[in-house]
Amino acid sequence: MDVTPTNDADLLEKVINLAKRRGFIFQSADIYGGFRSTYDYGPLGVNMLRNVKHQWWKTMVQMRHDVVGLDAAILSPPAVWAASGHLETFTDPLVDCLKCHGRFREDKIDGVCPSCGSTQFTESRAFNLMFKTQAGPVEGDGATAYLRPETAQGMFTNFNNVLTTSRKKPPFGIAQVGKSFRNEITPQNFVFRTREFEQMELEFFVPPTEADEWYRYWIEQRFNWYLDLGIRPEYLQLHEHAKEDLSHYSRGTTDVEYRYPWGWDELEGIANRGDYDLTQHSNASGVKLEYYDQAANERYTPYVIEPAAGATRAMMAFLLDAYHEDEVEGEVRSVLRLDWRLAPYQVAVLPLSKKPELEGVSEQVLALLQPHFSCDYDITQSIGRRYRRQDEVGTPFCITVDFDSLEDHAVTVRDRDTTLQTRVPIASLLADLRARTNQA
Ligand code: ATP
Repeated sequence: MDVTPTNDADLLEKVINLAKRRGFIFQSADIYGGFRSTYDYGPLGVNMLRNVKHQWWKTMVQMRHDVVGLDAAILSPPAVWAASGHLETFTDPLVDCLKCHGRFREDKIDGVCPSCGSTQFTESRAFNLMFKTQAGPVEGDGATAYLRPETAQGMFTNFNNVLTTSRKKPPFGIAQVGKSFRNEITPQNFVFRTREFEQMELEFFVPPTEADEWYRYWIEQRFNWYLDLGIRPEYLQLHEHAKEDLSHYSRGTTDVEYRYPWGWDELEGIANRGDYDLTQHSNASGVKLEYYDQAANERYTPYVIEPAAGATRAMMAFLLDAYHEDEVEGEVRSVLRLDWRLAPYQVAVLPLSKKPELEGVSEQVLALLQPHFSCDYDITQSIGRRYRRQDEVGTPFCITVDFDSLEDHAVTVRDRDTTLQTRVPIASLLADLRARTNQA
């Protein structure tokens, strides 16, 4: 029986709590009191975050012949951000509350101070979200550098490099996963909005006449990616931006939204950026960023369709969506019903007791499975407790090695969601787990 909390505030609290308690996500520098809005990913969190990024890369790069990858620098010179428009327009409207002096994003507060309820604010001013720093020992304009606020510009500035080295032609894409930095005025909701985060972005270059078709195509692909990885359909929706709300570069933007505990909010944005970026960088650098179509003997600037997702934000949505409480044998258990591809551990090997014979067989089982699955090994406390601990962090399969295993060379496989237990010979264990995870 499902007894998952229906009160949204409780759900958020429980997931944040679980994430800290079980080593998914820690407050950064917490021995110094923490550093606001920065987080460290612990042993389970790093596994899960890597899985999220790996699934994205697999779908967007590995499984396609029309997308190649890139890993560009995080530090970049002001010229890049002048051309992209970020120096001038990558700003949020900042206001100060006249009563409590709290600082807020004007567009997020509906005229009422979230701290003290006052409606008196300073005039709003444009606050640039980029982190500015110095590269090298000399101060001054020549040494100014910015931490990238998005990964996209690296794909545009490398357009010619990738085009000539990969011999791709439009429609084709360049994909990148990596850190981005924004000096957010109001970071909030755990890792939903942080100052340092990870993005997964694709810049897909197309002939201008095909832009709309590809824009629709990518909206559908990206929506389905979340469904395929287990997000409940009723918690996912598309939201197309009205023309007057579009960013300076966009000809059309649609967000994939998730129903977070605080309401519908962005998970990913898919934008038709037209030829804005390549044209801006061509003009600013003096290097033409175009495609020469030999067959048609024609030169053109491709349009760009950009699906831009957050890896850390997606991980949070996957955690929230997977969190459930149900009753097993009269006891409430919390369970993360994560897709096996995202789970921090896919298999846990549990010797029933600490007897050396059992540990010996367990280590053989572990060695058999480790090349194929991310495995945990747990020998402490009762088997019931250990099952609960694995359920709570979303491990889909527990393998128990007991005294019978010494005789029948078989183990018990327990399924996280059904809690059903099946006896499986060690010799066919790998095949059994592959079948359970739909792998040939
Ligand atoms: P928002 O309106 O939520 O601030 P945005 O529209 O500015 O986001 P984009 O510039 O479209 O975001 O970035 C693409 C994706 O990167 C977002 O959909 C989100 O998943 C992620 N992202 C953006 N800013 C942050 C942040 N501060 N913390 C975590 N993830 C972020």
